[in-house]
Amino acid sequence: MSFESLGLSPALLKLLAHQQYTHPTKIQETAIPAILNKEDVLGIAKTGSGKTISYVLPLLMNLEGNLDVKNRHANMLILVPTRELAEQVNTVFKIFSSALAHPVKTVAVYGGVSINPQMKGMQGVNVLIATPGRLLELLDNNAVHLSSITTLVLDEADKMLNLGFKDQMNKILNYLPAKRQNILLSATLSSDLQSIQQIVLSNPTVIKIEEDKDSLELIKQTAYLMPSEKKGPYLRQLIQQKEMNQVLVFASSVYQVDAIVNKLKKNGIDAKAIHSKKSQGARTESLAQFKSGNLRVLVATDLMARGIDINFLPFVINYELPRSPKDYIHRIGRTGRAEQHGEAIALLTQHELQHFEVIQKKMGKRVELIDIERPIKSN
Ligand code: ADP
Ligand code: MG
Repeated sequence: MSFESLGLSPALLKLLAHQQYTHPTKIQETAIPAILNKEDVLGIAKTGSGKTISYVLPLLMNLEGNLDVKNRHANMLILVPTRELAEQVNTVFKIFSSALAHPVKTVAVYGGVSINPQMKGMQGVNVLIATPGRLLELLDNNAVHLSSITTLVLDEADKMLNLGFKDQMNKILNYLPAKRQNILLSATLSSDLQSIQQIVLSNPTVIKIEEDKDSLELIKQTAYLMPSEKKGPYLRQLIQQKEMNQVLVFASSVYQVDAIVNKLKKNGIDAKAIHSKKSQGARTESLAQFKSGNLRVLVATDLMARGIDINFLPFVINYELPRSPKDYIHRIGRTGRAEQHGEAIALLTQHELQHFEVIQKKMGKRVELIDIERPIKSN
């Protein structure tokens, strides 16, 4: 299938071609026509499946000729869980809104930075991309109004629920007109999500893209067994030996992430941390550096790394296992994307082996396990 058959305007098609997007992804094939048709949509597809433009493109078309002229009245609201995602979505809106005949003002707002410029920024806003907490603050201050909203998007709804935004989301819903288009996107389905779904969506087009087992096939997975005190030295050894120039390392806590980064730096390996205790500026900068290949190692907690779009990574290392098998698959799914081969490595203690068994079962794949203290495999 091509983008041409989806009902997009010639100007958008031209921009897509210019951005080197040749074929729509599966979710785009179905979501774009449904959203153009003003339907509610529930889209479940894993991270990296192209959910952003699946709503940005049709919404920009729906927006055209439909712009509310009342000041500080946004026309479309995109709720997102993190600051990083807000910026990312805003960038995509900005790229494609240049294809429209009329200028459209898109603004991203989120906490952790001063609210005053954001209040001023609500002048003439059309598309508002917001994290729930900051949006409520802006509403409290009468800086923006949601009574002209025609479309609501909940992007990464699963993540918003995981982060405990449910009450805030409900509060925000009360500000919206009852009659509107709703789009809910998520990488996973859960019972919590179903409850939100029922409140928000009416008779939606449901798009569920099954996890592509093939993409896991593109990932070479290895697990190394070792005592916990060896993890640090072994991590450094792997990075050097395998000449990793761009590697994402996951750990479970802010404390652990910082400890890993400090050790790496002491050993002359360029590394930065990304977690909730870092300032917005520092996070944005580290991520940009890492994406552009100017930072060798990025060490992250799950919270920060999920949903951040990094097109393709050659290496992912699990310094510690995530609790949920789904998160493990998410983590390693950052490599082996777009039909390129990647490598995922787990550093395990004896203690983590049982949990790793569970993960392998869920994944439907066995991973080679090497005991670093007994490197020669038995039998
Ligand atoms: P998701 O929201 O599902 O995690 P994104 O929308 O962030 O995924 O897209 C992941 C990456 O894929 C982005 O770098 C995006 O530019 C790219 N992408 C999206 N759609 C296409 C397409 N049709 N062809 C090629 N690349 C695409
Ligand atoms: Mg996304």
